[in-house]
Amino acid sequence: MGIAERYKTIRSEVEEVAREAGRDPKDVTLVAVSKTVGVDGVAEAISAGATDFGENRPEQLMEKYAAFPQVNWHFIGNIQSRRIKDIVPCAYMIHSLCKLEHAKKINDVAARLGKEQRVLVEVNVSGELSKSGITPEEAPAFLRELESFANLRVSGLMTMAPEGDLSVAKTCFADLAQLEDELREQVFSLDGENALAFNQLSMGMSEDWREAVQEMSTMVRIGRAIFSDDYHSL
Ligand SMILES: *Cc1c(COP(=O)(O)O)cnc(C)c1O
Repeated sequence: MGIAERYKTIRSEVEEVAREAGRDPKDVTLVAVSKTVGVDGVAEAISAGATDFGENRPEQLMEKYAAFPQVNWHFIGNIQSRRIKDIVPCAYMIHSLCKLEHAKKINDVAARLGKEQRVLVEVNVSGELSKSGITPEEAPAFLRELESFANLRVSGLMTMAPEGDLSVAKTCFADLAQLEDELREQVFSLDGENALAFNQLSMGMSEDWREAVQEMSTMVRIGRAIFSDDYHSL
């Protein structure tokens, strides 16, 4: 199978798992994480119907955005302050916001471009030291700080689950979904418009997207299962 076929297969599997979970398949966006392939690989996925792509390096984001500005480019990597000016012009959504200084800079660049930048706040639900993200406890105060940035559209939360144990991953996803519900009440209860926009949950990768969809993920970020020739799931 090539990229186009694998994309279509994953697409229909995601829809099926969503339906089995009693969800509308349209509520789950498949973000094809193209970081391991070049523009040819992206073109193949687009030919199969892909509309959303994820990149974790600013250079790759810029190159691929320039080649295919008609699709949505999601920045999912660690944010470096000096690269924010490169990321914002290309990014449909930034999934990995977890520092206030970055929020300020993203807001400044977005304001200069006359753009409202969609962002997700990355939360380290599992507490693994190797993972980035704010803690769940820090989330309410962090979100309140973000409300002062007029050019940021805070669209939800993102997390990465620990690898290797799908039941642990599932718990982690359920915890993020619950946190989002709590935050919507606590932080946005006085502002209807912002509360409505705070509705995305970016969670689930090649290994664990099924568990994520069952736990209400709205964006699965899938790389290897689409772009790698020799990927076999757990
Ligand atoms: C690489 C990456 C993915 C995709 O991972 P796969 O296991 O290849 O599906 C998802 N999210 C982030 C943040 C990544 O860096």
